[in-house]
Amino acid sequence: MECILKIEKNCWDNLDIYFSSLVHINGKILYVSDENVDKLFGDRIKPVIEKYGVLKTQYVDNNTIEYAMDIAERIIATDIQYIVGLGGGKVLDVCKYAAYVSKTKFISIPTIISNDGISSPIAVLKRQDGKPKSLGCAIPYALFVDLSVIMNSPSKYIKAGIGDTLSNYTALYDWKLACMAKKETMKDLAYLMSSTALDTLLGCRFDKVDYSFTKSLVQSLVLSGIAMDFAGTSRPCSGAEHLFSHALDYYLPHPTLHGFQVALGSIVMAKLQNREYNFLLKYLKQFDVDINPKTLGISKDDFILCMSKAKSLRPGKYTILDMVELNDEMLAKIYDELCEEL
Ligand SMILES: [Zn+2]
Repeated sequence: MECILKIEKNCWDNLDIYFSSLVHINGKILYVSDENVDKLFGDRIKPVIEKYGVLKTQYVDNNTIEYAMDIAERIIATDIQYIVGLGGGKVLDVCKYAAYVSKTKFISIPTIISNDGISSPIAVLKRQDGKPKSLGCAIPYALFVDLSVIMNSPSKYIKAGIGDTLSNYTALYDWKLACMAKKETMKDLAYLMSSTALDTLLGCRFDKVDYSFTKSLVQSLVLSGIAMDFAGTSRPCSGAEHLFSHALDYYLPHPTLHGFQVALGSIVMAKLQNREYNFLLKYLKQFDVDINPKTLGISKDDFILCMSKAKSLRPGKYTILDMVELNDEMLAKIYDELCEEL
């Protein structure tokens, strides 16, 4: 799908020019943000929207499926023409799904980038019981990433973004395994996009989060998201390490950032896949990405539970977990190794 994509140092300074090139804006534009983000950045975005349409505002205070549907209903009932989302994953996922349901164009303006959801065709929202659910939808119509804003965002989000990109390593291998087992079809172009995203980041000779590094990281995450759209499945960037993270989200009362969980999952799955992973450990340490299970608040019991349940979160998804026999003793040993290595 076509997407207007601007990843630039001071991208938001050029928003006026970019908006003027979006044809057919002349009606209502729904601006969606959360109140804190709006206080920080709203003044840079809203005046541009007001130049091109009638500004309507919605502050997001939760991220349930029901809430996204309510916004979709508002969009349909009041003839909103565009939806502009400003914020992090929660705001953008609500927008992504509301835009998809209401068949409205979504202009995404992220203030943090902590995973590849920024450009993926998947929204993660909460069910009525508070559990997360991944919903298929469309990638944004336009994406405006201001690298200065991202570079100055809290470092934990940048570190989580590193973790999500590195997880392509085990996801791609699981995809190959699934194809060899005749459970999936390989989409070579999507495979190339995801592995390029991984290699771009690994190939970075930076040891600090500066402008060049931030640019590479954002490009890698955007490319990963688009790889999933290209493949028509999450397989290029989501294997057993993501199943493990889904289990943590489902079973733990306080899961942590997706990017940290999948990076931890990647180390575990690389062990099970019998593959080299020291370079991943080195990379994580270089950027001070701490995914020690103890730091993430994952106890040995949590780990054993979530590893045992991981497969059941997406039963149709063939991964390394379909090829190995897990038991509590073996998982306890892996947990101890992780506490040592990470
Ligand atoms: Zn991910």
